[in-house]
Amino acid sequence: MYQYICSSCGAEFSREHDRVKQCPHCGSIWILISYFEDGTGINVKEYEAIRSNAEADRKVKLQCPDCGNIAESYGHIKGTYCCSCGGIPLALVVEQPLELLKQYRKRNRLSQKLMGWKLDISQNYYSDIESGKRPVTPEVAQWITKNIAG
Ligand SMILES: [Zn+2]
Ligand SMILES: [Zn+2]
Repeated sequence: MYQYICSSCGAEFSREHDRVKQCPHCGSIWILISYFEDGTGINVKEYEAIRSNAEADRKVKLQCPDCGNIAESYGHIKGTYCCSCGGIPLALVVEQPLELLKQYRKRNRLSQKLMGWKLDISQNYYSDIESGKRPVTPEVAQWITKNIAG
């Protein structure tokens, strides 16, 4: 028996097979399958996380690194594709992009110049972002989502 949970509406259902692609309640493609194989629970932790979020009505924000579309869900299913453009797997939205950016640079001992190069902006521009003189652009936010968060 395969147990399913929908991370969009929180509905749970079970089937004899693992081929369900959409939630029968809301049509969302963001469904997680949990089952046991050789006594090993597959996706059990993720399943429980989504279930407890659904019970508490606690949603997380997910962003598509491809088109920038933001969606809400009860959990982050790894490898979930964007329902807007079908693009590369969604990542958790970064709540504090600047902090993550600074931490990432320090942890990896990178210069501001190298960070600028990675982000395809000048060193000065990068330094302005870190010091808060310029905002984190959507492009930079997307880079963070893709490379640091999620
Ligand atoms: Zn659903
Ligand atoms: Zn997208």
